[in-house]
Amino acid sequence: MENSTCSLSDVVEVLDGMFPPATALSGDVVGLTVGDPSASVRRVLMAVDPTLAVVDEAVAGGFDLLVTHHHLLRAGLHAVVPSEPKGAAVLALSEGGVGLYSAHTNADVATGGVNDALAAALGLRDVEPLVEPEGQPLGRVGQLPTETTLEGFAQHLAAVLPGAPVGLRVAGPRDGRVERVAVLGGSGDREFDAVREAGADVYVTADLRHHPVSEFREHGLLAARSGGVDGPFVIDAGHWATESLWLAGAGERLADEVERTTGARPEVLVSTTVTDPWDFTVSTQEG
Ligand SMILES: [Zn+2]
Repeated sequence: MENSTCSLSDVVEVLDGMFPPATALSGDVVGLTVGDPSASVRRVLMAVDPTLAVVDEAVAGGFDLLVTHHHLLRAGLHAVVPSEPKGAAVLALSEGGVGLYSAHTNADVATGGVNDALAAALGLRDVEPLVEPEGQPLGRVGQLPTETTLEGFAQHLAAVLPGAPVGLRVAGPRDGRVERVAVLGGSGDREFDAVREAGADVYVTADLRHHPVSEFREHGLLAARSGGVDGPFVIDAGHWATESLWLAGAGERLADEVERTTGARPEVLVSTTVTDPWDFTVSTQEG
């Protein structure tokens, strides 16, 4: 194999092409966060969150760059000190020679990004944007190859998502009919109107709260009372899990594109660390 390597700036240029920063939604922060652009990059680790455990994994694994979905400094940083988690992460990355880059809402809306990967993993066809904020297609809606029940669909979803302790929370009858599916990886509380307008039978997203889900389900329950069709149903499938599926495909595209432009192919792996903050659940009712 050639001994050539690429620089961090070469990799950043490819990532910026795959996930243009200008397509990030307003107020979002994306791009290179830590690192010397002239540094060499041979190994890249992909992850959803730059938690301290993932930073440790990147440093211990000899990676040169960590690419994450969520930005380390999203809530602002006023001091880089080892006694504060974000400061400790920046210091560990810097001392370990690991760069950090993030693609957040620009990866949500991208072709082949977070939501396309979720739709593809579920086998959806005729996939369209769920909603267009600021001219960018957020979320996806498409058809399952065959109609199924809500319980059958939930089992299918559980099988394609990476394992996390939170599992799935499902709102709707087990035998509810499901064929048209809306997906929005991560927090999807704000798009209930779009889900109804898209004619979806079920909405797969995460971080859902009592009132928005309860009020959304009341529409379906009221329709069923007057002989109409119940729905849409809702599945909260976990923030980390729903935002994990795009990492493998994005990593492969990154390696291909860096090799095409520089002649050096970095090794790109997906983190094995589960960064969902919930560690276990206890059911209060037999499921
Ligand atoms: Zn997210």
